[in-house]
Amino acid sequence: HSGFIAIVGRPNVGKSTFLNRVIGQKIAIMSDKPQTTRNKIQGVYTTKEAQIVFIDTPGIHKPQNKLGDFMMESALSALKEVDAVLFMVNATKHRGAGDNFIIDQLKNVDKPIYLLINKIDEISPDDIMPIIEQYKNALTFKDVYPISALQGNNVPELIDTLIKEL
Ligand code: GDP
Ligand code: MG
Repeated sequence: HSGFIAIVGRPNVGKSTFLNRVIGQKIAIMSDKPQTTRNKIQGVYTTKEAQIVFIDTPGIHKPQNKLGDFMMESALSALKEVDAVLFMVNATKHRGAGDNFIIDQLKNVDKPIYLLINKIDEISPDDIMPIIEQYKNALTFKDVYPISALQGNNVPELIDTLIKEL
């Protein structure tokens, strides 16, 4: 089981936190700055039976300038090379313009897309379904995982699913 998986989501949803947890070392530098020049920072998850290369794509958001345009192009072209896409959203925030912009980009991506509802440690279990409702018709999702990248809830189960798919 091996392949490439991209993570997309608006700034601060927890993409780097997720990567750092899964890969177990600080490869994707955590930052609160929404726009940085980092792009396609990769980490490799390796076990005896699986190897998954994760691609962090911070460049997919509404471009503000020429550099933003470049990052956007670069991030979108990365999506053409992956086997699956993880679309991460924030369970503590309503679906917003940042999410909608990414959803529009993903409409052109013909790969399995997994919806990750992150930061469930900050909400009550009863609030998970209403969040999923906000997104479930936006795209065709292969699967939906409520997770906590910070505390690890449901992350091993997600990884198991991804490994089986590759
Ligand atoms: P990125 O911009 O998508 O890469 O987001 P980061 O991984 O840098 O995370 C942004 C902020 O959200 C940081 O302060 C993280 O500690 C926090 N964060 C990430 N995942 C979780 C989570 O599952 N639960 C909580 N409570 N905070 C999280
Ligand atoms: Mg990040």
